[in-house]
Amino acid sequence: MKELERFKKTVLEEYPRLGLDSRFCFRCHKGVPCFNECCRDVNIFLTPYDIIRLKNKLGITSEEFIKKYTITPFDQNLKYPILLLKMEDDEKKSCPFVEEEGCTVYSDRPWACRMYPLGLASPKDSHRTEKDDFYFLLKEEVCRGFAEDNELSVRDWIEDQEIELYDRMGRGFKEITLHSYFQEGKDLSPQKMEMFFMVCYNIDKFRDFIFGSSFLDKFEIDDQMRRKIKEDDVALLDFGYDWLKFALFGEKTMTVKTDILKARQKELDEKRGN
Ligand code: SF4
Ligand code: SF4
Repeated sequence: MKELERFKKTVLEEYPRLGLDSRFCFRCHKGVPCFNECCRDVNIFLTPYDIIRLKNKLGITSEEFIKKYTITPFDQNLKYPILLLKMEDDEKKSCPFVEEEGCTVYSDRPWACRMYPLGLASPKDSHRTEKDDFYFLLKEEVCRGFAEDNELSVRDWIEDQEIELYDRMGRGFKEITLHSYFQEGKDLSPQKMEMFFMVCYNIDKFRDFIFGSSFLDKFEIDDQMRRKIKEDDVALLDFGYDWLKFALFGEKTMTVKTDILKARQKELDEKRGN
């Protein structure tokens, strides 16, 4: 992961910063000599929304998806768990979804695959806003797409690849991962790490937890919201982000039921011998 930190630093310090109207030459199609080459031996970070799209496309649970298709790199410098798409154990370390004809999950491919050849950088600063983010070009040696006679703007690429939807879905995750709690150097306990992992990556397990435990007895959650989070993965993920902000950072994003608060207060009073 040190390599990743080094790359981030280089991007922030050296890469030309592109805006939505910046232009570049690129085209990717089945006729390029490098077709599918970029789908091998590659680090693809998965966002919570990527996992929802992929596991639904494949018709499996988030638990099954995580077990079969991901790896969780361990690094003591990581502030929260991250997931990478697991490459196959073949000679070329192919992506599990690449076939001769191309990507078999194309309509639901991850954000990182949609973005290439663009990258998006967020300067690390507790006062940063989305306006500080910038795009940059990632020119992989293997890629012949840059030699194609097709000029387009960053905006064109974003629209063509439906990246806005993915960015919108990724905002909640960014609010958590770029939270001032982490910027201030604070760590999560192992229990809170697990909480983060379940909400962000194992959405079906999170649903089982909510509806199979006393969770709903503890918080004020109206019937409409209960119905939504039972059926809709994206609504559940948004709800999960609120819960993480409450449980990890102590924000007032959830309302604890009055009787629970009273019971807790009573317990505290008894401990203090009042
Ligand atoms: S998910 Fe699709 S586009 Fe992304 S690396 Fe795999 S095969 Fe390629
Ligand atoms: S290497 Fe570049 S041009 Fe070739 S298939 Fe991948 S993205 Fe397209």
